[in-house]
Amino acid sequence: MKRNKTLSIILVIAILLLLPAIVFAEKETTAIDLSTEVSADLKWIGTVKLTSGNLNIRKGPSIGDKILDKLPNGSKVEVIEQLEEWAKIQHNKTLGYVSKQFLVIEQGNINTAAAKNKIVVLDPGHGGRDPGAIASDGTYESKLVWQYTVKTKELLEKSGYTVFLTRSEKNSCTDYKKIEEELTCRVNFAEKVKADIFISIHADSNPSKKFRGTVVYYNDRNDYDGNQNHFSADSKRLAQLIHSYIQPAVGSKDRGLQNKNYFVNRMNKVPSILIELGCLTNSADLKLLKNKDRQAKVAASFVKAVDKYFAPSGS
Ligand SMILES: [Zn+2]
Repeated sequence: MKRNKTLSIILVIAILLLLPAIVFAEKETTAIDLSTEVSADLKWIGTVKLTSGNLNIRKGPSIGDKILDKLPNGSKVEVIEQLEEWAKIQHNKTLGYVSKQFLVIEQGNINTAAAKNKIVVLDPGHGGRDPGAIASDGTYESKLVWQYTVKTKELLEKSGYTVFLTRSEKNSCTDYKKIEEELTCRVNFAEKVKADIFISIHADSNPSKKFRGTVVYYNDRNDYDGNQNHFSADSKRLAQLIHSYIQPAVGSKDRGLQNKNYFVNRMNKVPSILIELGCLTNSADLKLLKNKDRQAKVAASFVKAVDKYFAPSGS
């Protein structure tokens, strides 16, 4: 009897000691179930990282296989299967293989189109204590480009893009002494937020009142100080697209594309362009640029250009 009682006590103690472990194990099981559920919505996403050129999508996992399509730097693709050196991917409607060497693969949510996991930095020119160009009616470039920037941001976000601005409505990017500190802040910001592209929005001024037009700048040269944009080919392609959509939307003279050494293009670690929408010292351009309907049209055209940049095949 005494022995039985001792055994019972030992048994109760043992159960009491084990109980938390049993409960814990159950909790752990629940946790595992939850994570399985979450990961069902997640897929492997590959981001193309190149210093130049494009990444080939091939029909099979070898360099001897036919090229089906090309992916520019920064493209996001769905990774279906990972082999040792190749990844089977889907991009728009193309199924194929790309070299894993140029693909950063991570788990993420790809429930929108491949083009929509992108980060766009919009850089409204000037701001803070720098008004930029000033029109004869007192319009500040900094305020005018702010209007274009917020409209474009709103429409890009509606399309699923993540958008960051380099400054606020009233303040500059940093409290700077030299303008170079301010521009460095804007360029570093793009790198910090892992931007896929950087678009700087400006309006021009000129001593000649007749001077007008829309021009888009990119950087593919290092003759100024040895520095050059890391993604000049992508910058040029972005500049071409922005120009082809925005210039007609503004409706001013076509000043084309120019390969220049502007700081925010030259020093940027991501594809970068600078657009001068029009010229504030020209009365016809000023009227066009202040028109609200035109502003909305231009903002929508930015979205079209950005869509086209990220999904060249148009799907
Ligand atoms: Zn400017």
